[in-house]
Amino acid sequence: MFGFAGGCSDDHGLGDGLPSRRAVLGAASVLGLGVFDLVDNVAMAEIESGSPGPAGPRVHTRREWGARKPRKATKILKRVPDRIIVHHTATPNTRDYSLAHAYRLSRDIQRFHMRSRKWNDTGQQLTISRGGHVMEGRDGSLAAILSGRHVLGAQALHHNDHTIGIENEGNYMRAPVPGSLWTSLVTVCAWLCAEYRLDPNRAIVGHRDYGKTSCPGDVLYARLPELRRAVAMYLSDGGPKPKPRPEPPVPDVPEPEIMEEPMITPSSDLDVPDDLPPMRRPPS
Ligand SMILES: [Zn+2]
Repeated sequence: MFGFAGGCSDDHGLGDGLPSRRAVLGAASVLGLGVFDLVDNVAMAEIESGSPGPAGPRVHTRREWGARKPRKATKILKRVPDRIIVHHTATPNTRDYSLAHAYRLSRDIQRFHMRSRKWNDTGQQLTISRGGHVMEGRDGSLAAILSGRHVLGAQALHHNDHTIGIENEGNYMRAPVPGSLWTSLVTVCAWLCAEYRLDPNRAIVGHRDYGKTSCPGDVLYARLPELRRAVAMYLSDGGPKPKPRPEPPVPDVPEPEIMEEPMITPSSDLDVPDDLPPMRRPPS
């Protein structure tokens, strides 16, 4: 386990204010490690503002939550994902909705994935805490999203090349989803659908649609139709809109067979390990 601190310090809010210039420059430099050349000026300006845009979610960067460096440089695919995979972390349903807790969660997940799973970095691209705080996961994810690229994660065995993963803090086999988390999940999915030009009704899936796992829990999984409707409504009602952007170029070399690791969430005792033969894709 990860030593989750108890206590309830509710400083929830998506608008946590802009980071300091020092933090901004630091984040930009961290993000620039592997992806700088892929990020256009618009995207870079958004990263430097600490936000994907006025209508998008406030995404806390790896610099902010104190990420360690990945073991190997992030692999960035010149394509957009076609599915958004909703996960739960299967960690305790904490009542600590603070930003400090959210940062600690991100560090715990990264440590777990790197030390115990021996992965290169955090497996998923984005993390949402029960307090609704949104954090960048795998290195370069934010820049990639903003530039129409896709960071290869480790969150859905055999499907990492075409899916982007959101880890939602908590265990939703039986427990209800906190409103703060739900609101952020809707916003993040709408943002991703806008940036990647995805139809929420087709794009949003649960981890169990792609592997033998109980993730994201019966409760959260049952709410995916509601999530798709909410995102569609958000997009049609003044939510984030896709920016004009040329279609990403076709890769000039075939992508190698993906050898990424299975996603096993911290303390996923309710989950069947998903290093089993993949289920076929759900009909689209
Ligand atoms: Zn999962």
